[in-house]
Amino acid sequence: MSEPASAIPADTPPAAAHKALPDAQTVTSVRHWTDRLFSFRVTRPRSLRFRSGEFVMIGLMGDNGKPLLRAYSIASPAWDEELEFYSIKVPDGPLTSKLQHIQPGDEIILRPKPVGTLVHDALLPGTRLWLFATGTGIAPFASLMRDPETYERYDQIIMMHACREAAELEYGRELIESLPEDPLIGEMVGDKLKYYPTTTQDDFAHKGRITDNLTSGKVFADLGLPPITPGADRGMVCGSLGFNTDMKAVLEGFGLREGANSDPAEYVVEKAFVG
Ligand SMILES: Cc1cc2nc3c(=O)[nH]c(=O)nc-3n(C[C@H](O)[C@H](O)[C@H](O)COP(=O)(O)OP(=O)(O)OC[C@H]3O[C@@H](n4cnc5c(N)ncnc54)[C@H](O)[C@@H]3O)c2cc1C
Repeated sequence: MSEPASAIPADTPPAAAHKALPDAQTVTSVRHWTDRLFSFRVTRPRSLRFRSGEFVMIGLMGDNGKPLLRAYSIASPAWDEELEFYSIKVPDGPLTSKLQHIQPGDEIILRPKPVGTLVHDALLPGTRLWLFATGTGIAPFASLMRDPETYERYDQIIMMHACREAAELEYGRELIESLPEDPLIGEMVGDKLKYYPTTTQDDFAHKGRITDNLTSGKVFADLGLPPITPGADRGMVCGSLGFNTDMKAVLEGFGLREGANSDPAEYVVEKAFVG
């Protein structure tokens, strides 16, 4: 009697057997930025369509034989052939204590069901788009900053990124500095994209919390921009729960209202992690 089509023959090598997982994708590159941060790229399922700024569930097979999955923003733009992720390394984290050791050729699990609120559709039209991130919260904006639609929709895009240490800004800095030379979107980016990185601990050109730099007006003075108004400005926020809560208060103070996919308004928020 012939075997059922789904069965893996007994002589199949382990790697090929693992490939039989429906949602397996292959790691193509890994880069470590600090001892707490790394980025990696994986193959993209042909069927996966997503809007820049969305997140998916990714992970590894757990020791108990069940998938160990976590939410991850897709850091690459919707047009990219591969998928990029930017990750924390939590020393005792169930997933990232293992994920940080992946190498090219390894496989991860990726559930191809993208969702999220950090998408253009959740905002009403405006002229300036403000992107506010702490830590790995820059990941969804790494996608949006590489998406031509961002430059079609807005005259100016301002990326404010705050981290404790200067080294934690490197992933974003390198990406942003490469964009004007990018063969695909470089011309669209031109001088539309303004970058305002700050540190909260290390000595650095600009220091301080994003909220403080907004409420004091320092960022507007430094960049030569008018203060945020609901008529012109749109915001996307991605950071810790505390940062998101503080940012909501600041943006509402400028008169902006929170939007959603089903009810677009002037700003949107998403957690960069739970806890
Ligand atoms: C919508 C959404 C999108 C996310 N996108 C990303 C992403 O693009 N990159 C990413 O690294 N993580 C992201 N996360 C967090 C991610 O889902 C996991 O929490 C993270 O990978 C750690 O997994 P873990 O199993 O090792 O530890 P967990 O048990 O999940 O977390 C342990 C603790 O580590 C801290 N922590 C978790 N993630 C972070 C983080 N990113 N930065 C700082 N502290 C953290 C928290 O205090 C948490 O309680 C996202 C979470 C959500 C809800």
